[in-house]
Amino acid sequence: MTLATTGALIADAARSRGAVIAFNVISLEHAEGIVAGLASSGAPGILQISENAIRYHGGRLAPIVAACREIAASASTSVAIHLDHVQDLELARAGIAEAWPLGVSSIMVDAAHLDYAENVSATAGITAEAHRTSLWVEAELGEIGGKNGAHAPGVRTDPLEAAAFVAETGVDGLAVAVGSSHAMTTATAELDLDLIERLAEAVPVPLVLHGSSGVPT
Ligand SMILES: [Zn+2]
Repeated sequence: MTLATTGALIADAARSRGAVIAFNVISLEHAEGIVAGLASSGAPGILQISENAIRYHGGRLAPIVAACREIAASASTSVAIHLDHVQDLELARAGIAEAWPLGVSSIMVDAAHLDYAENVSATAGITAEAHRTSLWVEAELGEIGGKNGAHAPGVRTDPLEAAAFVAETGVDGLAVAVGSSHAMTTATAELDLDLIERLAEAVPVPLVLHGSSGVPT
């Protein structure tokens, strides 16, 4: 297989009303294990590298992405590479500048900790820059519970606000707060399925679920 792009995998999933799974990579062994799992299930997937993982590698993006790219390119299923949860806007700009040639095809701009107007402004600016380099862009609205212990699990994204946010920022996908929570160690999250349905109707781009490892299968 050649390296896939996030946009193509998500477009395929949206056509079949399915989903694409994404897993966080910190080290080479994570990428190897994830791709082995995808191969055994026959599923496409996304290797994602977060701002924290970039910092773990001394602020350098290229070495860990190179490892992911080689592993993805020899995978038996379609695998793409994504930059996950980039809160530092300077790091986002630096990542955007080098991402596409390295094999990264998407980025998540995480400005959900800002108030709504600042989130729109930051996300719209980064999205325009990312689109100029062909990157697919995800943003977040309504903080997703549990991250850094700062968000309440009861946080929810409002459908009308979500639709306005997508229109104002031009993002390609939107992470929403619908009951899942980061870093759960048990699969006991209760998703708000009614809200997911209303969000899917209101928002013209695919929705992204974070904290998926806490969701019962
Ligand atoms: Zn997340």
